[in-house]
Amino acid sequence: MKILFCSSEIYPYAKTGGLADVAQSLPEALRKKEKVYTLLPLYQTIDRKKFQIEYTDFSFEYVLDGITHQFDIFINKTNKYDLFIYNPILCDRTGLYFDDFGDFGDNDLRFGLFSYACIETMLQLNLEIDVIHLNDWQTSLIALLAKTKYNLSQKIVLTIHNLAYQGVFHKDTMKKLNIDWKECFRPESLEYHDQVNFLKAGIYYSDNVTTVSPTYADEIQTALFGHDLDDVLIANNYKLQGILNGISYDVFDPKKDEMIYNNYGLKTYENKNINKQKLLKEIGFVECDKPLFVFIGRFTHQKGIDLLIESFNFFKDFDANVIVLGSGEDHYNTVFNNISVSYPNVYIKVGYDESFARKMYAGADFLIMPSLFEPCGLNQMICMKYGTVPIVAKTGGLRDTVIDFTDIEYSNLKNHMGVGITYEENNIFWFMHAIAKALSLYGNHKKFVQISKHNMKVDYSWKQSSKEYIELYKS
Ligand code: ADP
Repeated sequence: MKILFCSSEIYPYAKTGGLADVAQSLPEALRKKEKVYTLLPLYQTIDRKKFQIEYTDFSFEYVLDGITHQFDIFINKTNKYDLFIYNPILCDRTGLYFDDFGDFGDNDLRFGLFSYACIETMLQLNLEIDVIHLNDWQTSLIALLAKTKYNLSQKIVLTIHNLAYQGVFHKDTMKKLNIDWKECFRPESLEYHDQVNFLKAGIYYSDNVTTVSPTYADEIQTALFGHDLDDVLIANNYKLQGILNGISYDVFDPKKDEMIYNNYGLKTYENKNINKQKLLKEIGFVECDKPLFVFIGRFTHQKGIDLLIESFNFFKDFDANVIVLGSGEDHYNTVFNNISVSYPNVYIKVGYDESFARKMYAGADFLIMPSLFEPCGLNQMICMKYGTVPIVAKTGGLRDTVIDFTDIEYSNLKNHMGVGITYEENNIFWFMHAIAKALSLYGNHKKFVQISKHNMKVDYSWKQSSKEYIELYKS
């Protein structure tokens, strides 16, 4: 079977969040059994030399709204199934979706162009694809084009990685992208409150829709988590299923991670502590025996940032250290940039730093994820491989991957579930109660190490979930 996997980000070429990790690790797992082409915009930010990306000598043009757009196809010389599409409107930017001034005003055109280009590449290169796998709103339009314009025979699977991002634009987009008004500007298609909604169209036109954890698949069919598309998802739930994301242990493994200070595994577990010492030294903290809590993520409301900020007032009186790494919405960046001075045991780094993130996974005792909703969440799975205990809100994929240490039978610890601390209600009292539980667990060193080592053995690779995708493609 041949699969065309279209994504607006793929690690290590281009990454803003978990989508990039999944778009690298899922194809990697699928490739053990099937042929998988990946298609990614060749953004200006991608280092062509480092990744040995070369022009294929193949280009084509496509006319939209009277404008001729040129697309050049590139390939990774060392992995000929990694394909890239270059077009100046799509690629010549300083960021993927936004810059310091906000979202790019022509993202509808950019990802519309990418969608046309994915189909044209597949057809013109005669790739003989059986299934096209789309990811999020950026590639959702491919489903609409495939079913309305091209009448493709390929089956289409759309994965929703985060329903909060839908690609909603002014209805002028219809003209810019040459989409048929009569056929597509209606509620069971692209129309959405007199605008267009790319993700909505993807849901209607795909043959199958997956989301990234079983719990999130249920949650998004409710008004609380449905982001105004709950009715659309309920109407289409006959083709909706949740398949838990996995992570790549080729990328995330303390035994071979080149970005951490000292490699370690179960047999060399003591070295985890060296990572903690060196990390604290690097940021100028001296008290190394205290428990170390870390947060890594985008600064958006979704991630529970308000709760995190509120918690610093409590943390300041605790015998603990906190490190925060992230960036995101302007107002949060500003708050975090100004806050450090008030809290001597809280270190904050505003920015995106893959290498520092790895050092944090390795050096921490606890990873905090106070998300208000979390489709799957990768951080908790990554941190467990590094022996760091997650503290999570009981929502979405966090509910599916972490069980509270007080809810388990220790004789039964061989199960396949990660162990951490979970809390039910998203408010500062429950959150600080979870932190207090963490402090007490840390005090019981033997139990803490037992849980930490157990988590290092839990398998959150793609082994199981990639099988579920293959079954889905075959069906
Ligand atoms: P998201 O909602 O952002 O996709 P996930 O938990 O699914 O959240 O994935 C987040 C991924 O992005 C993880 O690999 C995490 O380590 C990484 N990440 C998030 N923020 C940063 C940052 N500021 N610097 C480095 N890596 C980050």
